[in-house]
Amino acid sequence: MTSLADIPSRPMRRRSREITDRAEIDAIVGADRVMHLALASNDVPFLVPVFYGYDGTSLYFHSASAGTKIAILKENNRVCFEISVDQGVVVAEEPCDFEARHRTVIGFGRASFVTDEAEKVRALDLIVKKFTDTRFDYPKGKLSITTVVRIDIDGIKGKSYGIGEPRPEETVEEE
Ligand SMILES: Cc1cc2nc3c(=O)[nH]c(=O)nc-3n(C[C@H](O)[C@H](O)[C@H](O)COP(=O)(O)OP(=O)(O)OC[C@H]3O[C@@H](n4cnc5c(N)ncnc54)[C@H](O)[C@@H]3O)c2cc1C
Repeated sequence: MTSLADIPSRPMRRRSREITDRAEIDAIVGADRVMHLALASNDVPFLVPVFYGYDGTSLYFHSASAGTKIAILKENNRVCFEISVDQGVVVAEEPCDFEARHRTVIGFGRASFVTDEAEKVRALDLIVKKFTDTRFDYPKGKLSITTVVRIDIDGIKGKSYGIGEPRPEETVEEE
């Protein structure tokens, strides 16, 4: 077994459920809008949902410039994130055999504060694009007080179950 300290490279226990195609993983990241972002201040974990944008390499989110997550990131920029789509339940005969239907990614990365104005605008555009096709201009005053964080991905894995044609013994229950 690999060390627990090396979580990003630990093999998935249920190999058959692993999504190995990076394009499929990127499609999940592209499909959702909210990620759960896990941070750590020494031995105290902290998790927040945030809207994000993705350019195929890095994730971006925006924030007020103060608050717990920003304070933690200044102390420890290592993060873990989770994004899930197609959540539901695969119903079985026995309650213990119920399974989560899902397509999920869990990734690890390093956060940094974006200072370059052009990159900030590009990041905000990526986030806004998840909600509307309208293109906005961001007033300089607002831009300067908006914190934008980039997460450079060190590792990312995808997992899927119960998607597509259900197996004959499975009934898929919509959420
Ligand atoms: C769908 C969704 C999308 C969001 N998108 C963004 C985004 O893009 N950018 C952004 O900055 N924020 C976003 N938020 C809000 C975010 O989850 C945090 O609440 C917010 O960023 C404040 O975080 P903070 O670390 O500054 O907390 P602080 O204001 O410093 O608060 C610290 C205390 O409040 C608690 N707390 C903080 N947030 C929450 C919460 N959401 N629910 C319950 N308790 C909480 C903490 O556990 C802690 O005890 C989003 C929330 C949701 C639900």
